[in-house]
Amino acid sequence: MKVAVFTLGCKTNLYESGQIISALIQAGHEAVHGLVPADVFVLNTCAVTGEAERKSRQAVQRARKLNPDCKIIIVGCAAEKNAAQFEALGNVGFVKGVANKTAIVNEIERFGADVEQLPSIFTETVFSTQERTRAFVKIQDGCNNFCSYCIVPYLRGRSRSRRIADVVREVRQAHAAETVLIGIDISQFGRDTGESLPQLFETLQGVNTRLRLGSLEARVVTDELLESLTHVNFCPHFHLSLQSGCDSVLRRMNRKYTTDEYLHAVSEIRRFFPDAAITTDVIVGFCGETEEEFEQTRNFVEIVKFADIHVFPYSPREGTAAYQWADVDGATKERRAEILGQIKRQLKNDFAMRFVGTEQEVLVERRRAGYWEGYTRQYLRVYFQGKANVGELVDVAITEPYKDGAKGETK
Ligand code: SF4
Repeated sequence: MKVAVFTLGCKTNLYESGQIISALIQAGHEAVHGLVPADVFVLNTCAVTGEAERKSRQAVQRARKLNPDCKIIIVGCAAEKNAAQFEALGNVGFVKGVANKTAIVNEIERFGADVEQLPSIFTETVFSTQERTRAFVKIQDGCNNFCSYCIVPYLRGRSRSRRIADVVREVRQAHAAETVLIGIDISQFGRDTGESLPQLFETLQGVNTRLRLGSLEARVVTDELLESLTHVNFCPHFHLSLQSGCDSVLRRMNRKYTTDEYLHAVSEIRRFFPDAAITTDVIVGFCGETEEEFEQTRNFVEIVKFADIHVFPYSPREGTAAYQWADVDGATKERRAEILGQIKRQLKNDFAMRFVGTEQEVLVERRRAGYWEGYTRQYLRVYFQGKANVGELVDVAITEPYKDGAKGETK
């Protein structure tokens, strides 16, 4: 049977789609990523925003256009949140929630909704999985934070961590040039098992892959963690989730740090890794955000000088604490998103400029329109010409900012 696995949302979903594909192939099916003609579609959905849910439903229509007789299996957060929204769309078969997506292999013929109980320990069967030249290794799932705008803890359950020995085994088995350690909130890694991120990195010393971290919270950026990262082949890229640069908004969001604590984390990172990329997410127009509060966020992102910012207009999610709170009007959200978008473009350009005249190690991902494309250790996207192969690490001389990154050349 040919199965196409289509992924929406975060790196954790992408990782889990890789697991599904590996499991399907092991079971003798032909399985590929993307929305391409197939007998069965597995749609790995996302519910983090209303827009993500809409795209998840739209994927069902797109799959049906590709093959009107197909079966569609829906998994992921949007299915967990509201399975009924998909069942009405036609051709939709087995709907499973976020838990143990690889069980799909055993149940591919089954129809009807079946949203599993969320697990309280890390229960998934793990397959080494490699996506787009990198290996993604999941080290944690779920979340205990209950940020007031976020539906994820209700969908994915409480935080649970993999054991260090299992993570290290999978990293070694992946044999990837780059390995990304991911989770829903990897800052919570080890709290349920008595292990910790610094211990994980101590155990990863000597592993032959460059290591990248998924999103972190400012409060876990300690000297102990940073020190442990200097002993492994670490890519100095920190995605430090901010959400707002204003303390009163952070309190309403139920975020558990202040802007001062965040700035302290940034300066500690730069003390250990002077050329580190620090990237972030910001929500604009969160409930009751005043012009003054937004201005504080705007100033804050310029002070930090982020290498990149993902800007999201706030979208109320039913079932969260903030759902009932007064919403900011859409035009104001759009204007604020546009203002931060302009700052982001300038900061990205400034970040690329810092590397002009230097040589950077680029992991080659693809060739398009006459250029090789890939990422440096600081996650700067580089376009270059010369000799290379997909999956290779190549030293590239950076010549100028270009598109969303920089242009370069090989010797
Ligand atoms: S840390 Fe907050 S935003 Fe992130 S998944 Fe947990 S509740 Fe959601």
